[in-house]
Amino acid sequence: MKTYEKPVVIENEDLAEGVFAASGDSGSSSDCWTVSGRSVQDWNGSHNVFEMSAIHSTGVVHITTQVTFNYTFSTPVTDAYAEAGFSTTVSGNTVTVVRDLHANGYNSGDSVTFKLWVKAADEATTKAIALNSISYTCRHETNVQGGND
Ligand SMILES: [Zn+2]
Repeated sequence: MKTYEKPVVIENEDLAEGVFAASGDSGSSSDCWTVSGRSVQDWNGSHNVFEMSAIHSTGVVHITTQVTFNYTFSTPVTDAYAEAGFSTTVSGNTVTVVRDLHANGYNSGDSVTFKLWVKAADEATTKAIALNSISYTCRHETNVQGGND
């Protein structure tokens, strides 16, 4: 004996439009990463070594092509560099680290941890340097549906 199962039609048009709308904005935002940082070695012979972390919100859906982190320290920085090939520039007390992304995927839930070597005027100042604040800019682009590159 067979029982008749009514076919279920899944209407997903609204869902697809929702995804497109959420990812279709281009510009930048400063409310989508959770950022932190701390010194893991106050003197390595030349620099104070910081470990920086950033986690992208899972509640925001957009394609990120670049994120710029601005780390402001307690004293002027004379030299800084980051691992992983991120470009690093120094201006006064602030070190700017740029992470370029070439992914086509959504950035939701992305996370990154990297070390940042920071040097101040002398050994004592370098050892005492503290991370005062972090800001960032997340640049995102219009989604290209079906694009492959
Ligand atoms: Zn973002």
